[in-house]
This record gives sequence, C-alpha cells and structure tokens, in this order.
Amino acid sequence: MPSAAARTPSRLTSSLVGWQANRIEDPVARLRFLRRTLGDRRVWDPRTEAGRGWLRAHRTKVVAACCGVLLLPAGALKDTLLLWQRPPVVTAQASVRRAEAIPNVWLVEQKEEQEEYSNGLRVERRYEIGNEPRQFEVYPRGAESAGSGQPRTAPAGIVFHTTESAQSEFAPGETKRMRVIGAALLEFVRQERAYHYVVDRFGRVWRIVRESDAANHAGYSVWADGQWTYIGLNRAFLGVSVEARTEPGATKPEATPAQIHALRVLTEMLRSKYRIAAPNCVTHAQVSVNPSNMQAGYHYDWAAGFPFAQAGLPDNYAAAVPSLWLVGFTYDPSLVNVTGEPFWKGLVLGEELLRQNATAHGMSVTAYRSALEKRFRGLLSTLKTNQQQVKEKEG
Ligand SMILES: [Zn+2]
Repeated sequence: MPSAAARTPSRLTSSLVGWQANRIEDPVARLRFLRRTLGDRRVWDPRTEAGRGWLRAHRTKVVAACCGVLLLPAGALKDTLLLWQRPPVVTAQASVRRAEAIPNVWLVEQKEEQEEYSNGLRVERRYEIGNEPRQFEVYPRGAESAGSGQPRTAPAGIVFHTTESAQSEFAPGETKRMRVIGAALLEFVRQERAYHYVVDRFGRVWRIVRESDAANHAGYSVWADGQWTYIGLNRAFLGVSVEARTEPGATKPEATPAQIHALRVLTEMLRSKYRIAAPNCVTHAQVSVNPSNMQAGYHYDWAAGFPFAQAGLPDNYAAAVPSLWLVGFTYDPSLVNVTGEPFWKGLVLGEELLRQNATAHGMSVTAYRSALEKRFRGLLSTLKTNQQQVKEKEG
C-alpha cells in the first residue's frame, strides 16, 4: 500500500473510508475495499469522474456516516463551541447532578495484605509501593498556558490500559502457567512503577503504586472535561491496567469475565473515593500524544473494545479527542484502519470541533492549529523547567 502522505486524501475522506472499511468483517474483502478506494486517487477524489461515480454509488453510506458522526453530537458540538468562547459556569444544580451519579463505596476492612470494600472489591497489597507524590496543575479549558494552572493533589480521572504482556490460553490446564506469568508481570510493573492497579486474568485486583503517588503509565498525554484540561496524566489520573494483549490481526484485546467484573468494582471504588466524574474515565488510546510529531494516538491500547457499559460508565469513545481540538494535535489517517471505529469517532469529532473553533476565531484551520501548538509548546517547556528545578532541589 502506498503511504498515507503519498495518497493525500482529505482526513475526513480517509476517516470515512477507514470507518466503512472497519465495518467489513472479512479481512480480505476489507483490504480489497481499501485498495479500491484509497489505493487509487481517482476513486475517492471528487474532482474526477471516477471519484464522483464512487460518491454517487456510496452516497447513502457516506451521508449516513456523516450524519452518524456529525448529527449525533450536534448539541455537544454547539455547547463545546460556546464553552470555548465563554468559560463554563458550573451551577449548583449541575454539581448536584454530577455528585448523584458517583457511586457510594466504602472501606470495610483493611489488613496488611488486603483491603475489602462494600461493593465486594478486594484489593491485594502484596506488591504495593510508593513513588513521587502526586502533585500537578490543571488548566482552565481553552486557556491551557503557563501561569493559568491550579495546583491539585487528588486524582481527577482514570486511564485504562492493557499490559500487552505474554499470555497463555485461558483454560483450567493453563492455570499454573498463568499464575507464573502473572507474578512475573506484577514484579515488573512494581519495578517500573508502571500502574496504580493491575487486574490479573482471574480478576484479582493488585495495587502497585499507591494512589497518593504518580505512576509511569501514560507518558505524554492530554484529556479535558467540561472545566479543566489535564496535561501529563501520570500525575493527574490513576492508571489501571488489564492483563491482556491485542493478538496479531485483532483490533482489540479481550478481557476475561472476571476482569470485566473487577473493572466495574474497582472503578466504582475509585470514583467514590475521589469523586471522579464518569467522562474522565478513558482509555490510553484516547489520551496518548506524541509531541515530537504532534500526532495523537501514540499508544493505542483499548482503542477499541473497552467494556465501558459493563464497567458502569458511559460510552466515552463518543467524546471528541481533546488533544486535537484543544491542543492542536493531528493524527495519521492510517491509525483509523489499525484501531477501528470507536476511536475513529473521537478523532473525527475532535477535528470537527477544531475546524468549528477556527471558523469562530476567523482563522484558517492551519493557522488556528499552529496557534494552539505554540501555546502547548510554551506550556510544555515551562513544565519541563519546573520539573528540572524540583529535581535539582531534591538532589
Ligand atoms: Zn497503556
């Protein structure tokens, strides 16, 4: 296949084609479809007769795809645009509604090796370890610059990961092997301070890094809620990783039923303890960015298949990816084909919000994106300087 850059279809065209391709179950048929469309510029380019023919033939599907993406969140798009222009006012009623939606879970018993909670959650503590204290700044959404940050110490959200570690078949005869692999994984995660929690294949919940401390789980990362933007989620969010792997050729990992149950009770406990809003419980794919090329989706674990509903959460895949529309990141269109539909929706919606905000500011998309990028780079540089100063002081 030629590279995405060589083809240069518009991002929306690529995305629509990618979305449609991912609805084709048979991989061979999917490949044929992609070759037929993206592989030949004349086919998708509406300036050519072939392109106009393709669009005529697929008009219903394309319109349905556009409507599915653009009409569904139309209210959200409008609201977000207004919030961008005017900072949101959080009313008392809105706060109460949010508080009502947060589960009520409490600690029942704490022992040296275990904690038990009122919703049946049991946390194993054998591998628990400390790290740097959790201290970070949040930025008013739409004004993410050095100097606008507000200090925080409580986690504001959860990032869900997969360990992408070695797996053996989930079968009774493999139990011993799974336990050996699982123990080695926990030891490794502990050494690396990689996550706050690991959910093993039997659904056991292991605390690794203490919740009061940062863990090295998210790297460069961005998320935003209705009020704040979070940059650097190692500190701002808790990292929960499922011992699972995306098998070659698959677009998503598979969690065991015990893991799905554990995700639900663990999420309930963490949300209850820190008053975490449901929209701030997201996957690594949704938050990961690469500042060196300004592209989102550097890591893409749980780009598809995260069981939001079973974890007691709304479908957060439907949220516009904040790194695109708030910070000016872009994405490689081929990512859409690798990751599948759920993540694609957030990427396209993020781009659409960026475009609307650029129009609202009377700027071209390129100029607007570049202004966002400049602001983000200024912030990143200040954060690095501050961290360096803290290290020098400690050292
Ligand atoms: Zn991850």
